[in-house]
Amino acid sequence: AWSGFRETIVLYPAPGIGHIISMVELAKLIHKHHFSTTILLTTGFRDHPSIDAYIRRISAAYPTISFLRLPHVAAPTAAISGAAKCFSFIKRNAPNVATTLTQISESATIKAFVIDLFCTSAMEPASSLQIPVYYFFTSGAAVLALFFCFPRIHDDTSASFKDMVGVELRVPGNAPLKAVNMPEPMLDRNDPAYWDMLEFCTHLPKARGIIVNSFTELEPVAVKALAEGACFPHPTRAPSVYCIGPLIAEPQHSDVRTDSKQCLSWLDEQPHRSVVYLCFGSRGSFSVSQLREIAKGLEKSGHRFLWVVKRPTQDSGTKQVHDTTSEFDLASVLPSGFIERTKGRGLVLRSWAPQVEVLSHDSVGGFVTHCGWNSVLEGVIAGVPMIAWPLYAEQHVNRHVMLEQTKVAIAMEQNEDGFVSGEEVEKRVRELMESQEIRETSLKLKHLALAAVGEFGSSTKALANLVQPWSGFSA
Ligand code: UDP
Repeated sequence: AWSGFRETIVLYPAPGIGHIISMVELAKLIHKHHFSTTILLTTGFRDHPSIDAYIRRISAAYPTISFLRLPHVAAPTAAISGAAKCFSFIKRNAPNVATTLTQISESATIKAFVIDLFCTSAMEPASSLQIPVYYFFTSGAAVLALFFCFPRIHDDTSASFKDMVGVELRVPGNAPLKAVNMPEPMLDRNDPAYWDMLEFCTHLPKARGIIVNSFTELEPVAVKALAEGACFPHPTRAPSVYCIGPLIAEPQHSDVRTDSKQCLSWLDEQPHRSVVYLCFGSRGSFSVSQLREIAKGLEKSGHRFLWVVKRPTQDSGTKQVHDTTSEFDLASVLPSGFIERTKGRGLVLRSWAPQVEVLSHDSVGGFVTHCGWNSVLEGVIAGVPMIAWPLYAEQHVNRHVMLEQTKVAIAMEQNEDGFVSGEEVEKRVRELMESQEIRETSLKLKHLALAAVGEFGSSTKALANLVQPWSGFSA
């Protein structure tokens, strides 16, 4: 419940444990500046079984962070995309957010209201209460630049990006981006989520400020473009952008599963920086034929590997699966005899690895990643060189940041349909594990990341600038 501070910062994450954890990490940063925070949680959609235990743990460790549950709201049942359902559910919560903000305002001053991009529907009620609204943007600055430009790009065409094969989009702070590689909810005008994203991106410039989980040295080009107002419809009225990252979720110790323990003790037995780690986020999944090519490549590379395999998709392409927990038979999806032949030098995990711990383990020397933003930041902070294999969402944009802006990754060559051959996997794994240059670049970037959040670092300064107007007496 709301714990009665006279002043508070209210945070409103989108539903889903990942969004909540990121917002809590932001609350912890704000806590360092001695502000109380109140985190609003929705109920009725993507509720996670471990959320209550998580909230109890955070509340006990950080007395200035409190959680407030919004009343239960029914999840949409229409046959629409997952993103569209999520956005529609959040909109249904808007009246309750308005009531809650009014209630809190009766006994405390809300110094700022920090929302996830997907929670844009809460901007209006906050603004009408004269509360300054900030976005917390959990992707990088390059994606933010793209999102600022989205309304303009939308106006330039009447087609869906998914159909604009061969067309490249030009966005300040970004490399030319294939239209077909736009983030998913923006690909198809027939998806209601497309129109929601357009509305969110149209509202972005109306915020008082935008907090970004990135740091200047990671995305120099995009950060500069944002600072120059190049991406804003009215540069003079551009909101301030605060790069306060990298913000990385603390490992969830309650989640120490047996296979997680097994994987860490296996790593303990491997030589220094000898293992390539392959993991494709919480939802990245491959067809059986793609899995077999990866297996072939790993086997031929001769390198040690730790590979997280999720339940395969049915078709030949690459997809995301939402149900990543259900059981499947690992041996039946991998080439016959693969597990026996690579025993000792390879470990395949079903579904999940404790990634932050794995990446910081001394035995890990490379990371094949789908370029999800959290994975990128976790790889960067661990100083591990990477192979970029983007699958969905905004990962093609992130890939460019890793390849071109910082050179901490090399590219996995994908066919038009995203498929990667076993030969390519073998070649890139060798290149990654045997290159001294990219390892040194990764270590340099790690030190820049640590410096950014250090005492005089760019992110520390940005955070101080962010909270500065929140101090002082309220009217
Ligand atoms: N993750 C993990 N183990 C796994 C897969 C994912 O710990 O086997 C964590 C990973 O450390 C990261 C998050 O889940 O913090 C995935 O976020 P990201 O933005 O990289 O990708 P997404 O899942 O959103 O596509």
